[in-house]
Order: sequence, then C-alpha cells, then structure tokens
Amino acid sequence: MIGLLGGMSWESSVLYEELINTGVRARLGGVHSADLIVRSYDFARIEELQAAGDWDAAGRLLAEDAARLESAGAELVVLCTNTMHKVAEQIEASISVPFLHLADTTAAAILAEGLDTVGLLGTKFTMEQEFYRARLESHGISVVVPSEAERQRVHDIIYDELVKGELNRDSREEYLDIIDRLGSAGAQGVVAGCTEIELLVTEDDVFIPYFPTTTLHAEAAVEAALS
Ligand code: GLU
Repeated sequence: MIGLLGGMSWESSVLYEELINTGVRARLGGVHSADLIVRSYDFARIEELQAAGDWDAAGRLLAEDAARLESAGAELVVLCTNTMHKVAEQIEASISVPFLHLADTTAAAILAEGLDTVGLLGTKFTMEQEFYRARLESHGISVVVPSEAERQRVHDIIYDELVKGELNRDSREEYLDIIDRLGSAGAQGVVAGCTEIELLVTEDDVFIPYFPTTTLHAEAAVEAALS
C-alpha cells in the first residue's frame, strides 16, 4: 500500500495516481490497480506557508500526515512535489516505512543515461536552494540553473498558471527557449524539477534528454511497491 502526500498541486497528483495505477496494471494485468492512500492538501494552505518561509510549520504538517498514512497502513510514503522535499528529513523522521526521495529517483535516471551535467527547472526554492541541488550533486551530478530573470519566469509560470491547470503555448515556448540556453551552457539533459512542468512540456518537445520527475517518481513507486 502506497501513501501519497499530494495536492501540491492536485493537477500533478492526478498524474501521479494515473501513472501509478497504469504501472500496476501493466505489471499485474487483469483488473489490478494500485493500493493507495491519498492525502491531498488545499494547495493555498501550502503556498501560504512557502511564501511566508514557514518551512517548520509545513514540515510539521507533512510529517504528521505521513505518520497518519503509515498508521492507516501505508508501507511506502511518496511526497508528490519537488519543492516540499525541502522538509523531507522531517517527514522521514516521523515514519518507519520507506520514503521515496524524488531527487534520488531523478538522479538514478540521469546516471542510467550516462549523463553527469543537467539543467534544472522548478520553483525558485528548488532551483536556488541547496536541498534539491545538493541531493543531485551527492550522486556526482552537476547542476546548471537558468539566469535570475529566467528563474523568476519559470517560477511565475508554475504558480500563476500550471498549479491552476492553465497550459499556455507561449509559456511552453518560453520554457523551451530556456532549455535551449541551458543546453548551450553545458547541460546534457534537463530535469523538469516541478511536478506540473511535464503537463506543459513533454519529452517530444525537448531535443536533449528530458527527466520528467512525476513520471520517474511514479515509476519508482510502482517498482518499490511490487518488488
Ligand atoms: N509541484 C511543484 C513542485 O514539484 C510546485 C508546487 C509546490 O510548491 O509544491 O515543486
């Protein structure tokens, strides 16, 4: 049984659920589907804590709910957002079942492609702070981020559009231009390090190896649950 901490935003949690269910069906066949417990937040509450920089409160909230998922029977906890991995340690400390760290599953995919330098797109928290980049770097991967102005645009598109389910062609073009520049700056591939980005930009849009974190994390969750 997999416990999902989702709703950050629900636009991407829905994709998690679909991918995990599809993955279980592909592995087990028949009418099988995933055994899931989902805690889906009102994202406004999470965003408020992020904007206030109150990561302690956010960490306590997620840690308490992770423990509730475990009490309810979850044998694995999956946090369905890159950004909130900033409080991954608090969550891990509150449970005794495994926690599937998103940056680790992303790093494994990058290394499996034989790459060592990637561009990173995500919220400003993810692109600018240590918690995510350092975790990738701990696997021997170098991380290139967009310029300050580009980081602001990537971040604004996430909060003003993607978490509200708005998919705009102009924003996709902006992301693709930024990915091109990351490639010119030495990135061999690019990490969609925000769970909504792959709703807007798919592998077919990008001409360098693309690492869609929701897909990779959901696949790893299926693998962990069924192995
Ligand atoms: N889902 C996004 C992420 O993967 C951003 C929303 C959030 O702040 O959780 O980082």
